[in-house]
Amino acid sequence: MRWTVPRSLGRWALWLSLLVLLVCMVGTLVWLAGRYEVSQVENRMAEDASDAVSDIRNGLTRNVQSLQALQFAGQSAAPWEQEAASLLREHREWLRLEWRDVQLQLKSEVDTPFRSAAFSHMGTMFQMPEVVQACSVAQRQSGPGYSASTYVPQANGQGLEVMNLCLPVLNNGELVGFTVATYALNEILINFLNAQLLRSQEVSFTEADGTRLAMHGAVQRGARVFTAKQLLTLPGNTMVLRLDSWRAAPDLFPNVLTALVTMMAIALAGVMGLLARDMRRRQRVESDLADALAFRKAMEDSLVTGLRARDNQGRITYINPAFCEMVGFTSKELLGHGIPAPYWPPEMVDEYGKRQALRLAGNAPPREGVESVFMRKNGERFTVLIFEAPLINATGQQTGWMSAVLDVSEQRRIEELSRASQERLQATARLATVGEMASLLSHELNQPLAAIASYATGSMNLLHEATVTDPQLASSLNDAMQRIGQQAERAGKVIKSVHDFVRRRDQSRVEVAPRTLLDNVMPLVALQARKLGVRVEVRCASDLPHVLCDRTMVEQVLLNLSRNAMQAMQDDTPYKTLTLLVRTAPTIPSQQWMEFVVADQGHGIAEDLAEKLFTPFFTTKEEGMGLGLSLCRTVVEQHGGVLQHSPNPPRGTVFSFTLPQA
Ligand code: ADP
Repeated sequence: MRWTVPRSLGRWALWLSLLVLLVCMVGTLVWLAGRYEVSQVENRMAEDASDAVSDIRNGLTRNVQSLQALQFAGQSAAPWEQEAASLLREHREWLRLEWRDVQLQLKSEVDTPFRSAAFSHMGTMFQMPEVVQACSVAQRQSGPGYSASTYVPQANGQGLEVMNLCLPVLNNGELVGFTVATYALNEILINFLNAQLLRSQEVSFTEADGTRLAMHGAVQRGARVFTAKQLLTLPGNTMVLRLDSWRAAPDLFPNVLTALVTMMAIALAGVMGLLARDMRRRQRVESDLADALAFRKAMEDSLVTGLRARDNQGRITYINPAFCEMVGFTSKELLGHGIPAPYWPPEMVDEYGKRQALRLAGNAPPREGVESVFMRKNGERFTVLIFEAPLINATGQQTGWMSAVLDVSEQRRIEELSRASQERLQATARLATVGEMASLLSHELNQPLAAIASYATGSMNLLHEATVTDPQLASSLNDAMQRIGQQAERAGKVIKSVHDFVRRRDQSRVEVAPRTLLDNVMPLVALQARKLGVRVEVRCASDLPHVLCDRTMVEQVLLNLSRNAMQAMQDDTPYKTLTLLVRTAPTIPSQQWMEFVVADQGHGIAEDLAEKLFTPFFTTKEEGMGLGLSLCRTVVEQHGGVLQHSPNPPRGTVFSFTLPQA
């Protein structure tokens, strides 16, 4: 959550600046549109003003022509007055017409019939200076001259702004008098200007300083006023014609352009609003998604099952921490890795490659999973159970395979242990049976053996008494009989020892010289050695310390080891020598021990067999029982000694066991 604050702030700032920009843009557009409209109005008004000025000028010029016509009406007062009166009826803008002589003395005058005499209140002399001014201009210009305007108060309390026009009267090029016409300024506006113009705006004459002289036109309609001014220059007088136009205060929608712009702005604001809402919705979805993702990640990280996803080309696209831990590779090393995967044992690459090809061809793996062997980074192999399922993406297409991988090596180890102990149990049961059998046999064989021994003795006695012709033959027969008796006795002893051993009776331990032990087994060893073509080498000093042991059983051990050694050399061994050696064991402290060594040059013992050698019933021979070594070890261990074996370079095996010194 730490990063949310500045991020959302930034987002708000962005939205705010977008809004400000939008408002500025729309404001500028509206203002420009307004400005455009104002300038349009102003242009139109400037045109109107100049049109109005030219209208007035034309009117004035036409009036000058009418007055010039009046001058030809005659030199006497009566026809002039008649003519003047008719002119005044046609021209409402004129208040009065005067005929003056060269000295400006009034010769004749006629007032307009449309209003009561304008000057009745103030008298005509009231505006004499203006008449003089106008006529002096007219005289100077030999044409129409105008006076400045004058305010003439009226009897009803109101007033009139008037202006005089003076026209020189020439007779054969000689000045003979003046015609003076008095204009009412507001009548000029009424009569000379286009009614259309007056309908929508107010027209007025002003002085240069803005003082309003006369005005006419529409009443004020609206708050906003547009003004246009135009100079009206007349000989002797200059006035300003001013047009005022009112508009209903700055229109919100002055024209189509502004309306369009405003509508677009509103639409834009609407779209922005929608966008903002969409954005908010997206943000909500985004945060929901982030939550879901975090949840999923926590779940995957806490799993002990390894997860692995591969694409359709077999490249690894995803692995969880449990998988990395299982195989010992980092996710960096695994991600994107194709076939063969680094955790495939090299010897399995071919088989796994084929399995992979099958999978990619669309063959679904069995639901109950596939057992496989993987290799950790350190080379250790371990058994895994893999469950695979197709990986389907959002559009329903298969993009690869998802696998759950279980490390079952520990489980397998336990199964193996239990199997081994089961086997041991069975072996023990069989051993027990063998023991029973041995007891039974020893019991059953004792009597025939005793019978053999006594028959042998009887035969020897009879041989003594009988007359023997050949003393040499008699001695040989006697020897043979003696041997038969000895071996029958020995067989009886063996049977008794085995019987005792199986019954776990206390064995009778006796002190015996090692040499004696060897000598006792020698006849039987030599017999077999002769048969197998083996040379027997015995190395045993006669002064060695005695050992404390059950002699029959130890002799049996020596016999067993020798027989195994000779059988190992049976085949293609070049030098068949069996070495029997007795020495004091140097390495074992606290008690003095003797070591018996049986060495051969046979085929040796393969490494994988070494562990099983002492297991009861383990044998590699066709008629073997697999009980010899097991029995030997038990016998030696019952004496407190150790039976072990090691290679005998360059060829063969050395078996050795220790026995306590007496
Ligand atoms: P058996 O002699 O009946 O097979 P043992 O317990 O005496 O049973 O021997 C078990 C196995 O140990 C033999 O089958 C043989 O493979 C192996 N073995 C014993 N001694 C030797 C030896 N000196 N050299 C090579 N292999 C031996």
